[in-house]
Amino acid sequence: MQESGHKKPYILGLTGGIGSGKTTISELFKEHGAEIIDADEISRTLVQKGTSLFNEIVKHFGNHILNNAGELDRSALRQVIFNTPEEKRWLEELLHPAIKKEIQSQIIQSTSAYVVLVVPLLLESGTYDFVNRVLVIDVPETLQIERIKQRDGSNEELVKKIIAAQMPRQQRLLQADDIIYNSGPISLIRHQVEKLHAKYLQESNTSAC
Ligand code: ADP
Repeated sequence: MQESGHKKPYILGLTGGIGSGKTTISELFKEHGAEIIDADEISRTLVQKGTSLFNEIVKHFGNHILNNAGELDRSALRQVIFNTPEEKRWLEELLHPAIKKEIQSQIIQSTSAYVVLVVPLLLESGTYDFVNRVLVIDVPETLQIERIKQRDGSNEELVKKIIAAQMPRQQRLLQADDIIYNSGPISLIRHQVEKLHAKYLQESNTSAC
């Protein structure tokens, strides 16, 4: 991908429910040279063992949210927050400002023609109004549940709670500029990504003029 050279990069906001395929599809954009800024990845880095946020989380929740290596046990933490709304709020209020700050810093440093910003709660949070375009990854809920159970070994009850805490599918689709229906094989998705990549390159060039 060509270097953009302009200060304000074109930003594609990529979102979708848990297990819809955001990570998988962002990797396909990466193959075309797009820079990926992934809120989940940033969050994992920010709460690595020994960081100040890690220490605050352990102080708040206690040692039972740690694994044997003394790192955050994300599935234990998920169990707590998706069963206790005020704990979920507490954690979000702690993490979201730090994640957003890191996102802004990565955007400033980006050099590709456009940047793919992957945020699960892009539309829910209401703070990402600076994105140029919204791409929603969509799958039927039954497939979403199946893929998450397989990926994380989570139980169905927890997966349903996580889905219920996110924006309803139809509402998310209404806010999409582009949609990838990720029920089919990756070969089909690859083709859609190729077409969208060409479109975003063109739009980023136009917006840079
Ligand atoms: P998200 O990042 O939205 O939570 P992932 O990209 O991790 O979702 O995808 C969830 C799971 O579904 C992963 O195990 C991934 O390999 C699988 N997956 C994603 N897209 C497809 C697809 N088109 N066909 C088959 N499996 C897929």
